[in-house]
Amino acid sequence: MNPPRRRLALLPTPLQRFAGMYLKRDDLTGFGLAGAKARALEYLLGDALARGADVLVTGGSPASNFVAGAALAASVCGMECEVLVSGTAGEQAPATLDLVRCSGAKVHLTGADRTELDKLIGERAAHLRDHGRTPYAIPRGGATPVGALGFSHAAQELAAQLAFDEAIVVLPVGSGASIAGLLVGRAAIAAKWRVYGVSVSRPLPQIRSEILGLVARMGHEGVAGWELIDATGPADDQDVRTMLAALRADGVLVDAKYGTKTLAAAARLRAATRTPLVLWHTGGLPAALDLLARAAT
Ligand SMILES: *Cc1c(COP(=O)(O)O)cnc(C)c1O
Repeated sequence: MNPPRRRLALLPTPLQRFAGMYLKRDDLTGFGLAGAKARALEYLLGDALARGADVLVTGGSPASNFVAGAALAASVCGMECEVLVSGTAGEQAPATLDLVRCSGAKVHLTGADRTELDKLIGERAAHLRDHGRTPYAIPRGGATPVGALGFSHAAQELAAQLAFDEAIVVLPVGSGASIAGLLVGRAAIAAKWRVYGVSVSRPLPQIRSEILGLVARMGHEGVAGWELIDATGPADDQDVRTMLAALRADGVLVDAKYGTKTLAAAARLRAATRTPLVLWHTGGLPAALDLLARAAT
């Protein structure tokens, strides 16, 4: 299968030594502040363009890195974009929502709960289709078999950078699209990596079945050699300490939703094994600035 791809990211991202591990620097994809989300968007926009779409319809929370990246990708590809945002505007819009607006996307403040968004995205796309448009609807987080191709491809990219066969790969998990893609990509190249997904927003039984659902929709029967770690919960002082330690020792900036949780989990795994460990830095720079502000006061 050779799915259409619209290049957006600077790839391969660097792999560096970091705190006795390796750090895969997807914070450096160089596309807005989208981080690893640029990988999914390359395939989503490739598909949208191949289908002749003229408007992208997606949604997420105001702080969603995916919607910020999607709005920018639509602009770069000459497509219109409509973004359905959950909740209300809030006192101060996060940088991600500023990015959406500055990309020229039309923002709908829905007031709806996050879990309602995929349905609303579908309804908005249907409405646009009824009015003669050709919409391309993308659910929250870009969690489709097409979006997951970004991390499938990243598996090959990482394999080419590693000088050893056995490794532990640790990455944060939100919607599950990244880990689903990575597991499928790992299977395709028969890499001997053990994969740990650090779930930051959804309970483990739910996210496990969503990941397996995506893997199945990508045409795979199931995958072995992976585990989920529960890291849901709000940022606390430990996250601030973890962020400051990485910043001061290595000049690496992480956010509290994904980065510090995954870093802490990786450090625990690292202490318990001699197998080389790769920690995936997926980005999250807009929220990292909020954490910096919190740490500085
Ligand atoms: C979206 C996101 C993730 C999680 O990726 P999923 O594919 O949704 O599981 C991790 N880190 C950052 C910075 C993200 O923006």
